[in-house]
Amino acid sequence: MTTTPTDRRAWVDRAACRGLDPLFDGDGSPAAIRVCKEACTVREQCLAEAMADERCRRAIDRDGIRGGLTPEQRARRAGARLK
Ligand code: SF4
Repeated sequence: MTTTPTDRRAWVDRAACRGLDPLFDGDGSPAAIRVCKEACTVREQCLAEAMADERCRRAIDRDGIRGGLTPEQRARRAGARLK
């Protein structure tokens, strides 16, 4: 599915992480993962965008919690190298 800038704006505006950036940086935190999984209504769109953006990047070349997954979890899902 292709996402237009307008589509993206629509879901980003509903992201539960708005204003919580530090929690989601780096390897992220358990608190950030909880926000994604328990409070975010756009997790599916967020994860789809992350997977498309990052493609086959190694885990160490990914950053932050996106779609409720850590960089390593997203790399595994993509079948990418971890290191
Ligand atoms: S699923 Fe994505 S948009 Fe939603 S809180 Fe998590 S990182 Fe933010």
